[in-house]
Amino acid sequence: MGHKKQLEFLTSKFEHGNLGHAYLFSGQEGIGKKAAAKELIKFLNCSGFSAVVIPALRPAEASGEGGKAGIQGESEKHSGSPVTAGDDKRVMTEKPCRKCINCQLIEKEQFPDLLVINSINSESSIKNEKDMMEIDVAQVRQINNFLSLTSYYGGYKAVIINNAERLNTEAQHCFLKTLEEPKGKTLIIFICSKPEILLPTVVSRCQTITFFPLEVYAATSEEQQVLRELLPVMGSELAAKFNYAKKANLEGNNINVILKVLQRYFRNLMLENIGVAEGKHQPYSLEKLKKIISLIEKLHRQLSFTNASPKLALEILLMEI
Ligand SMILES: [Zn+2]
Repeated sequence: MGHKKQLEFLTSKFEHGNLGHAYLFSGQEGIGKKAAAKELIKFLNCSGFSAVVIPALRPAEASGEGGKAGIQGESEKHSGSPVTAGDDKRVMTEKPCRKCINCQLIEKEQFPDLLVINSINSESSIKNEKDMMEIDVAQVRQINNFLSLTSYYGGYKAVIINNAERLNTEAQHCFLKTLEEPKGKTLIIFICSKPEILLPTVVSRCQTITFFPLEVYAATSEEQQVLRELLPVMGSELAAKFNYAKKANLEGNNINVILKVLQRYFRNLMLENIGVAEGKHQPYSLEKLKKIISLIEKLHRQLSFTNASPKLALEILLMEI
């Protein structure tokens, strides 16, 4: 699970009794904001969490200095302390456990005290663009109704609004009262990649938590140079491609560097293609990108495990891109 910092911040708020009622999880699409929201809700509702203290642990230790007690005990053994290394058998289950029924139902979005709102965006249900884009006032009424009911388990009632930038204006207005006067243990999480689209009155009633892409890959200067040389070759005439393959230095590990650079380049294009990452218009279809990526993987395998010729491998690849 990524986004550790954000989750630690929120769970510590909860543990100190300071968790807010409404949060705006802001950050680009596809980086796990919704998964993080569910993780927080699991934390609030997990029933599997327990600190099991197996006998033989003295009560003083049980009140807890964490794992250090056992280590100190061991070193003190020789100075007459009765504690031995084997005494401390405390087992801490991680919270959330992700195994208890509550954690599992939250993951599946079937937990009675959780409501997940999605815009109507599955392709089968799109009747027109409006359907795809909007979360409408009826869905906000559904939220208000859900929050007005008492909690099923006596804990938090949580709402996740996925793609909150798709709330239409009327729906956002309908939300304002709920955000102004939150009741009891209520948690509303807006998942949003474009918070600037939301009404300022909505945003100002939420605490914004910013999420960042989990892996920001920094190419080495050697890899950048390889890509600079390759970019003009892609999509050019076959003669230019063969010329590149002929002149390219494929000694040692160089062919693997080229494959690695291209694999990363095409994976990024694929992420852009499926809308996970932002990017410019690109000439490759998703099918084509998948084909290229699997070809790169195949060539990499062949070069690693057989006597395949690096020059031939590069030529085969260049003909595809
Ligand atoms: Zn659990």
